[in-house]
Amino acid sequence: MKKLIAGNWKMNGNLIEVVTLMNALSAGLQAEPGLITQVDFSIAPPYVHIALANSMMPAGVMLGAQDCSTEDNGAFTGDISARMLKEIGCQSVILGHSERRTKAGETSEMVAAKVSRARESGLRCIVCVGETLKERETGQAADVVVDQLMRSLPDSVTGDSVAIAYEPVWAIGTGRTPVAQDVIIMHETIRYKLKEKLDNPESIRILYGGSVKPKNAQELLTLPNVDGALIGGASLDAEQFLAIATAVAVKNS
Ligand code: PEP
Repeated sequence: MKKLIAGNWKMNGNLIEVVTLMNALSAGLQAEPGLITQVDFSIAPPYVHIALANSMMPAGVMLGAQDCSTEDNGAFTGDISARMLKEIGCQSVILGHSERRTKAGETSEMVAAKVSRARESGLRCIVCVGETLKERETGQAADVVVDQLMRSLPDSVTGDSVAIAYEPVWAIGTGRTPVAQDVIIMHETIRYKLKEKLDNPESIRILYGGSVKPKNAQELLTLPNVDGALIGGASLDAEQFLAIATAVAVKNS
């Protein structure tokens, strides 16, 4: 399975920065033409920059969004539906990011409803799960992650439409990462639990997310059951983003 290198720009970037970043991405991919065939890429700009990013998108890079509504249309002020995202060119959507779970009060049931809507609209989903530092320190990490996983996925998931991102909350944007053994155990646990949701759990990508940088990419992303990365901070810098992909592509080629 090809690794997926997915960027989450979060609420970052003005018009000039988007143009600069997209130009740098295109130039970087042109300079290394093999990369786009060795690794799958997606980027998720903020809603208002999706159209601009799409107009400058290098061939082969998937366009994504960072969230969608549980509904298709109607009186939901401020919300954006999966159908709307699909219509403006999105191919994927990140759902259940810990920042939405904690700051926007999203429950796993809401995430599952969004996954269903996204799939009905033809979007692929990256469904995020992860424990807090307190949960890890008190030995609850696996229980929390498994609980989020099972409740955030509707029964009908398939490997080609959904990827899971294991993102320890304490590793996001902090420069801290789990030790390799903890990543291995959690990804194996996720793969095992996915058997309860789908016939071929090997077909689903399990990404790691949390302070992935060029210097730790090869170590983290070539562990067993790690099928790529969800990248926040480093996705705002084309050189770093592509260096992460290169680290993985070199290892696999
Ligand atoms: C994220 O927000 O999903 C993330 C992994 O962020 P960072 O790479 O900055 O830790």
